[in-house]
Amino acid sequence: MAKLKEEVSFYVKNTSNCDGLSLMTIGRLGREWIGSEIVLPFGPEGEEHVVVGWTDLFGGSPCTVRVFKAVGPNGEEGYAVLGGNSGVRILDDDVEPIAGVDEHLPRGWGQPFIWVEDAHDLPDSVLAVVEVEEAQKVRLEKTRDGKSAMWETGGSSTNSGDATIIAGPRGEKLTPIYVPRDGYMTGRHALFIVEPGCHVIEAFYEHPELETYVYRIDTIDKDDKGDYIATVSQLYYFKNGEWDHDAPEYLAEAIVAAEEKSMCFHCREAHYAR
Ligand SMILES: [Zn+2]
Repeated sequence: MAKLKEEVSFYVKNTSNCDGLSLMTIGRLGREWIGSEIVLPFGPEGEEHVVVGWTDLFGGSPCTVRVFKAVGPNGEEGYAVLGGNSGVRILDDDVEPIAGVDEHLPRGWGQPFIWVEDAHDLPDSVLAVVEVEEAQKVRLEKTRDGKSAMWETGGSSTNSGDATIIAGPRGEKLTPIYVPRDGYMTGRHALFIVEPGCHVIEAFYEHPELETYVYRIDTIDKDDKGDYIATVSQLYYFKNGEWDHDAPEYLAEAIVAAEEKSMCFHCREAHYAR
C-alpha cells in the first residue's frame, strides 16, 4: 500500500545567518511540533544548545522552529528541524562572531536546517508530538463503473516477501469483483470494492523476521483528478516478535492470511476472498 506523504517544500535565502539552500522537498510522516526554541545536542560531546528559527525580517530576527518526522529525498528517515527563510540559528556564546558577517546577530552559527537522525536527541515534549502518526492517505483503484477498490497482492521469493490483504469491517472475507488471469506475473490476485470501515492488512517477511500492520479505511474522498484517496488509520502492528496491543479476534483469520501470503512462494492466487 503506497502511502501518499504530505510534501513539504522549503528554501533558505543567503543571509548573514548562513548560506542558502535551493528548493528542497521532503515528506512529512507525522504531526508537526512548533515552538519558539528547541534544545538539541551538537558535536561529539552532545553539547546542548538552544536553536531558534531565523528570518531576514528586520535585518535578521528569531522566529519559530518546527519539527516533524520526515523522509528525505533519498528515502532516509529522520526528523527535520526547520526555521524561517534564513534557516535556523544555533545559539552559542563561545562562538566568536565572523567580522563583517554576523557580528550583529546573537552569538552562535546558522544552518539552513537541521536533520536529526536519532529520536533520542529530541526533547521528550517534542517527541510526544512528532511521533504521533497522522492519518495516512492511500490512492485507491477506480473500477470502470466508478467504485473505489483495492488489490490483494503479494507473495514471496526465496527469503522475503510481502502481502496486502483486504478484509471487511468485521474482518470478514469479501467477494472479489475481478480475479486476473495473469496474477502470477503481476502479484495482483484479486480486486475488491472497499468502503470506509474495511481493513487492510500488510505483512512484510524478511526471513526470519515478520512485520504485520493492520489499517482501517476511515474515509474515501476524490482528489481533484477524480481519483479515490483513502484516509487510513494504523490500528495494530506486530514487530520484533510482539504486538503493540492485541488485535481483536475477528481480525485473526485475516492477519494469518496476510502472514501466510507474505511467505507464499511465488503466490498465484488470493488468500483471503470469498
Ligand atoms: Zn499464495
